[in-house]
Amino acid sequence: MTGTRNLPDIHVTEHAPCCGDPDFAVADDRWTNATDLIRLCEPVLYVCGHCPFRAACIRQVRPSKSEFSGVCGGRIWVNGAIVRALPGVGPEDLPPPVNRKACGTAAGVRAHRRAVEQQCSKCESFTQAGAQQLELDSA
Ligand SMILES: [Zn+2]
Repeated sequence: MTGTRNLPDIHVTEHAPCCGDPDFAVADDRWTNATDLIRLCEPVLYVCGHCPFRAACIRQVRPSKSEFSGVCGGRIWVNGAIVRALPGVGPEDLPPPVNRKACGTAAGVRAHRRAVEQQCSKCESFTQAGAQQLELDSA
């Protein structure tokens, strides 16, 4: 035996600094709207800053699918949508992209955003091409 990590129902995030802290998954009766929730969560968000488990946390909680509200993976979520993120947290924490028919178009980019996952390479090039187009337009 090398410790509790080997038990099947123990997740790696139980070793995260936030584990068991009620301010990360705020009880429904402590907030009524996004402003309340952000007020409760913002003071603890910094704890995610150097946490090595951000991606694991998002994989485990699946905040988008579970319509999670609280702090997960360096972000504050309200009903499964990101409302605040720590500076410097990148898309690499988010689940890998699902390829869709709409990929490489604005609809594809929106679909990844709605699912709160990484952008696929086609959608990423679409976004970059769009950004360059905007720069050209404003020049
Ligand atoms: Zn795509």
